[in-house]
Amino acid sequence: MPASQTDAEGPGPLATYRAKRDFTRTPEPAGERAQPGREPVAAGEEGERAPVPGLRFVVQRHRARRLHYDLRLEMDGVLASWAVPKGPTLDPNVRRAAFHVEDHPLEYFDFEGVIPKGEYGGGDVIVWDEGTWELGEPDSSFDPVGAVRAGELHFDLHGYKLQGRFLLVRTRVDAAGKEQWLLLHKHDEYAAPGWDPEDYPRSVLSGRTNDEVKAAPDRLWRSSLPPAEAAVDLRAARGAAPAPAQASGPTADELAALDAIGTAGSWLVFGRELRVTNLNKVLFPGRPGEEPLTKRDLLRYAAQIAPVAMPYLVGRALNMHRFPGGADTQGFWQKQLPSHAPGWVPRWDNPEAGAAQTTTYLVVDEPAALVWAANFGALEWHAWTSKVEHPDLPTYVLLDIDPGDKTSWEDLLELARLHRAALEHLGVLAQPKLTGKRGAHIWVPVAPGPSFSETRAWAEALSRAIGNVVPQLLSWKWQVGERSGLARLDYTQNALNKTLVAPYSPRAAAGAPVSAPIDWSELDDPALRPEMFTMRNVLERLAAKGDLFRTVLRAQRLPQLG
Ligand code: MN
Repeated sequence: MPASQTDAEGPGPLATYRAKRDFTRTPEPAGERAQPGREPVAAGEEGERAPVPGLRFVVQRHRARRLHYDLRLEMDGVLASWAVPKGPTLDPNVRRAAFHVEDHPLEYFDFEGVIPKGEYGGGDVIVWDEGTWELGEPDSSFDPVGAVRAGELHFDLHGYKLQGRFLLVRTRVDAAGKEQWLLLHKHDEYAAPGWDPEDYPRSVLSGRTNDEVKAAPDRLWRSSLPPAEAAVDLRAARGAAPAPAQASGPTADELAALDAIGTAGSWLVFGRELRVTNLNKVLFPGRPGEEPLTKRDLLRYAAQIAPVAMPYLVGRALNMHRFPGGADTQGFWQKQLPSHAPGWVPRWDNPEAGAAQTTTYLVVDEPAALVWAANFGALEWHAWTSKVEHPDLPTYVLLDIDPGDKTSWEDLLELARLHRAALEHLGVLAQPKLTGKRGAHIWVPVAPGPSFSETRAWAEALSRAIGNVVPQLLSWKWQVGERSGLARLDYTQNALNKTLVAPYSPRAAAGAPVSAPIDWSELDDPALRPEMFTMRNVLERLAAKGDLFRTVLRAQRLPQLG
């Protein structure tokens, strides 16, 4: 953003924020009023785009001179902010000191990166939690700014980690005007005695820890770009040399060690010792003129793609589609983590599991866990649409363009372009990916709040509207046999424990195609083909284009449809 645009605003609510920072040195956003890519879903005075009620909140874990958590609540076009040294907690018996600090710009919502040493707040920042919030007391006047001024704010958080009723109350103001407040969680259904924020160290935006963000400083969020671009295609947009896709991936030595193992053995990767087996077994037949791919190839790919795919897997139960006999055999679903899985493999015990249901799921909270799954014969990785903390709250709306026998590639592209036009019109962030077979998926990020039945209804409303434009291409019949070979827009995938294949997962097909994210503009590229990205070439594409799917890691509220 040109400096003049910022300066033209004059002294406003962000004057203090700006005065403390040198935006030629810090990657933090300077703040601007209009936000391309965000404004339509955030503001929404127009009835046409009225958002689901609820303002956004973010908590950032900030390792500056001292570790603290920054709690920021969206109100009146800025983020009202408190620094909480020990962090927020769900423990209702604990009171946390909180210091009211200057308002931050709305773009700070997505800020994750490194503030240079010597600058104000120098250190590393992750988006520790985010979601929506509302005033705790039903109040027709809805005046959060007035409540802050009065020194007492009762509010409900709907985040990935933080849920339930909180109270912020001002306790004293020192001579310099510094305001000390207390933050506490009320005794409600979300209260959890002994709950410690330090037990949940990963970013909800990227799945990374502060250490990992600090170690990969080229992934800075840049204030020089509009927020949408900065998050969508960071490396390409900056024109800088792309960071290697395996920045925190396996080392050359680790990969060489895999190649040196015979049929089976012990592989030390990502600090874990894995027993790997049947390495020379063909898992994917080759395409005409190509060599087949072996289990060793799959394990190598799983290790190399893990750092890129992790943000879409972290904190989610993983349904494994296993093909131990290879892609051309009958596969089967495995959800239960087997009892022989090593003790370090991260897992989740589903408290809601009934009799004869899966009790324990794999959760890919560390890259070695993905390699473990691959060795277990999981050719396809299907992570849940919700996170394990709140299984009933989807974080994406899934739009599934499912081609029929008679659906041509051109038909499929037309359907995808209609989705692009509709989502653009609505001002909704979304990203397409190829399934790796014949179809396409569009994932729409959503802040925690709506239930699955709500996201399913939203997807259905959008799909029906698109269907009205091209009725000749679509069938709404449930049974494949009754669809006359037509495509289906399958909104029913928006349900608990229903999954679409994860981005970058291989597919069980010849040549090892992967479900590759694409840029919207690629829908107009005549060279685009449904199976063109494979385990063999997708890393090269990542090195050139970066991860195009990061859009779906942003929180947004959905506009009402219909
Ligand atoms: Mn801070």
